[in-house]
Amino acid sequence: MKILVINAGSSSVKYQLINIEDEHVMAKGLFERIGEDNSLLKHQAKGQKFEILRKAANHSDAMKIILGLLTDKEIGVLDSMNEISAVGHRIVHGGEYFCQAQMLDDKVIKAIKENIPLAPLHNPANIMGIEAFAKHMPDVCMVGVFDTAYHQTMPAKAFLYAIPSEAYKKYKIRRYGFHGISHHYVAERAAYILKKDMAALHIITCHLGNGSSVAAINRGKVIDTSMGFTPLEGVAMGTRSGDIDPTIVQYMTEHMDLTLKETMDYLNKNSGVLGISGISSDFRDLITAADEGNENAALAIDVFCYRIKKYIGAYIAAMGNVDAIVFTAGIGENAPRIRKKIIDGMMFLDSEICDKKNNVFGKEAVISSDISKVTILTIPTNEELMIARETRRIYETEYLVSKAGSI
Ligand code: ADP
Repeated sequence: MKILVINAGSSSVKYQLINIEDEHVMAKGLFERIGEDNSLLKHQAKGQKFEILRKAANHSDAMKIILGLLTDKEIGVLDSMNEISAVGHRIVHGGEYFCQAQMLDDKVIKAIKENIPLAPLHNPANIMGIEAFAKHMPDVCMVGVFDTAYHQTMPAKAFLYAIPSEAYKKYKIRRYGFHGISHHYVAERAAYILKKDMAALHIITCHLGNGSSVAAINRGKVIDTSMGFTPLEGVAMGTRSGDIDPTIVQYMTEHMDLTLKETMDYLNKNSGVLGISGISSDFRDLITAADEGNENAALAIDVFCYRIKKYIGAYIAAMGNVDAIVFTAGIGENAPRIRKKIIDGMMFLDSEICDKKNNVFGKEAVISSDISKVTILTIPTNEELMIARETRRIYETEYLVSKAGSI
């Protein structure tokens, strides 16, 4: 069974064709600069890499070109588009409507549109991807997998802000959380590696990439996560400030001569470790600079690790226990020193990272010492595979059932 995974941005489409039986990636690629004259498609299949400059005026054009490549006589991996059983779309914001993946019918698409005010940049792009695809394969089963859905198990005490309840009830202002597909994937992998049932585990997952978030997963259910109403809340990130006193926004507009939009850009694009270091949002640059004696780079790393450490401590308190701590995404998978700095000094945990085991990059590994009470792991995330698995689940439990019912 072949599943096509689509992640549509405003001017890009990322895709993977996965044979879900053995979870093998048959082809993958990225179409960039859609809508511009110099649209570029980077495609990989059959062990080869292709870079194709071909104008895609819109998402529909891009999908047509991608489907053409997948079924191309020479470099294609499919005889026909009909071999694709289902298409899984990554959708950023499902709001409160969706606590799991959904078959994309008119009702669900309408709800995704209703969530546009909550994700004004992402949801419209995701919808463009869905609509473009529906044009070329109108009868295929399409599934939406939401970045927010995994966090919908948070209890009200965790997702509510302490502001008047009309803000939540009337304006949907609450904590939603993001990176849910990634947290879900690595939590399931951790349970698999530990050979334990999710229902018996208390896991803290740290997704540390350009955007970073931490989640507390209590017996298979997220009970808290660090991102909130938007991905700006939580730990310090590459260019995002993470948690700040909201009064700072007002103070910046008044004293730094910034408009509200400029202030929000300042907090989203110029802050985080980039803002503190004044050098880069990339941890490779920061680590090199810190080693060369740059104090601001060292300070940025300190702030980043300290904030994550505090969230881990808070989530252990919230769950009352912790069995595993998982690091994932660009930094979590590739920066042993950052992993060590975050865990070091948590005396109350009776846990430690083993330097030798921690010397691992982009691979699944247990990195805690044998005597550590908590198992610490690094697990490369695989959001596309998680989307494909969820798409298969919905295809088998809902789509095929509905087809059978309609015969
Ligand atoms: P995104 O959120 O864009 O998906 P990624 O998960 O790819 O981001 O993570 C990007 C981050 O990973 C960057 O800050 C980059 O510095 C960091 N990173 C990648 N490789 C390394 C490495 N070898 N050492 C330290 N940091 C790394």
